[in-house]
Amino acid sequence: PRSAEHTDAAPVGVTVLAGPTAVGKGTVSAAIRRDHPEIWLSVSATTRPARPGEIDGVHYFFVSEEEFTSLVENGQMLEWAVVHGRHRYGTPRARVEEMVAAGRPVLLEIDLAGARQVRETLPGARFVFLAPPSWDELVDRLVGRGTETPEERERRLATARVELAAESEFDVTIVNDTVAEAADRLVELILAPPR
Ligand code: 5GP
Repeated sequence: PRSAEHTDAAPVGVTVLAGPTAVGKGTVSAAIRRDHPEIWLSVSATTRPARPGEIDGVHYFFVSEEEFTSLVENGQMLEWAVVHGRHRYGTPRARVEEMVAAGRPVLLEIDLAGARQVRETLPGARFVFLAPPSWDELVDRLVGRGTETPEERERRLATARVELAAESEFDVTIVNDTVAEAADRLVELILAPPR
């Protein structure tokens, strides 16, 4: 027979991973994607152009401004935000709901503004903050990545400073010292029984 837990409210299967820019959310998520196929990683829609090596439908759904607007207006986004003052990013609602209903653990890797919306829409979700070992380490990572122009980098660092202050809003903090350890800790949380 099904236990009460299994028939209980759906959102307990969702874990939200947020944290400042360049902290390594993408790298940690990629490790989980590779090693834990049982965890479903939500694929966001974005108006940002694809970087070299990014695949449409795998890393993001790359959509036009018009397409994004229509997704929002039709209520198809669980949350969305303008990130770093430029492009829009959002979580398409349908697949998340499908996966949760199927009992599959779901991971959302989104920005802070998005996480705050999910706190309203899916209050049962787990909120995990990924923190850098230090500010200097965060700056080094952003510079080392080399994917942004200097101007873009400054914008992202300004955002990161504000975002670091939001740690207290989260249920749990994971310090991203090494990707492997951070990923293991996150997987433990994702697969833990609901609160
Ligand atoms: P990037 O452009 O480097 O791929 O991502 C920039 C930022 O957008 C990251 O901080 C990432 O967490 C955030 N982001 C990615 N997808 C989503 C989403 O669906 N919703 C929100 N709110 N932020 C997202």
